[in-house]
Amino acid sequence: MTERLYLQDSMLFSCEAVVTACEPRGGAYRIELNRSVFFPNKGGQPCDVGSIGDAVVSCCEEDGERLLHLCDRPLAVGAHVIAAIDKERRFDIMQQHTGEHLLSWCAWTLFGAVNVGFHCALDYATLDLDRPVSHEQVLAIERLANRKAAENGAVTAVEYESEAALKASKITLRKHAEGLTAPIRVVTIEGSDACTCCAPHVRRTGEIGQLKIVSELPYKGGVRLTFLCGMRALMHAQKMQDAVDAIALKFSTARDNAVQAVEKQAADLSEAKKERAAALAALDEYLAKELRDQAETVRKTAVLVARKSGIDGKRLRALAQKTLTDRSLTVLLSDCGETVYYVCSANGIALDMGELCKTVNLLLCGKGGGRGTLAQGSAPAHRGLAESVEQLRRYCAQIV
Ligand SMILES: [Zn+2]
Repeated sequence: MTERLYLQDSMLFSCEAVVTACEPRGGAYRIELNRSVFFPNKGGQPCDVGSIGDAVVSCCEEDGERLLHLCDRPLAVGAHVIAAIDKERRFDIMQQHTGEHLLSWCAWTLFGAVNVGFHCALDYATLDLDRPVSHEQVLAIERLANRKAAENGAVTAVEYESEAALKASKITLRKHAEGLTAPIRVVTIEGSDACTCCAPHVRRTGEIGQLKIVSELPYKGGVRLTFLCGMRALMHAQKMQDAVDAIALKFSTARDNAVQAVEKQAADLSEAKKERAAALAALDEYLAKELRDQAETVRKTAVLVARKSGIDGKRLRALAQKTLTDRSLTVLLSDCGETVYYVCSANGIALDMGELCKTVNLLLCGKGGGRGTLAQGSAPAHRGLAESVEQLRRYCAQIV
């Protein structure tokens, strides 16, 4: 069995070891050592990666009690090697993991919320609380965790030989994982947390750096908090600052005024949209009158087939309705860049607009439908539109 050195010293990033097994597996090799600094994929966090001798270790995982290093080349059993992990990756994950201990302890101490889930990825980490907490409570958790980190308390691990020995210690645990086999490892943070845990941690809370909760979402009746510690928190702050500065620059204002500037623009935009809608409605009244005058009378029916541009489908429909008289048929088309919208509308005549729309679909290679007195559709723009409009005009004059 491999001696797991990370359990004694989380800051040991390399060690001498002897290869005790080497098994091929899908083009790679599973290497076992007599001792190792590699922490496996376990407890919701990524494993260590690194090297063993000249082999690259891309993954480390457990198989029962075995600790297996997935390597890109075979190593001779009995070979003396140096096993080394990616230091930066390990330290970053330890910062997030120990940060999770502190945040969970703060949520538990302040609001009785219990951590029921943890996941650490290479760019974010989440923890799940068993009950909802308000945004103000999240801020309080974050503040207390940062105060506790600044106290720079020692993070220590003690192994108890049995549940009875742990009970006899009278230590109050925030969390006691079920089904553990002895020895039971308890990780304690000076001045705050204590819980069972098998992962590596930073040595003192000051090494966590800043803790920042960046999102809070309802999750399974509780809340999922996404958080960043150490360099991740700094990089997030830099990114947010750059984003706010970019917005402020667009408004030619100072960073502190960016929110007000955006709010003012949103209000201005809303007002402008209302004004535009009113102006378009007034314009369409004029357009409708102009179009009605263009209609030709065929068998006592006003027939209008006309083409406009820059009018979207919704507005075109309203405009077509406005052109209708007691007995009339209107087909309006509007080319808007890549798309041609069309509306077939009728009043006081026995023609089904759904049927007429099918003919327009065929003519323009478009899609659309409707029934009774109204149908509409759209088609890709094409060069022969003027000709198609003329064909439609002749067709409509025949069918009324
Ligand atoms: Zn832990």
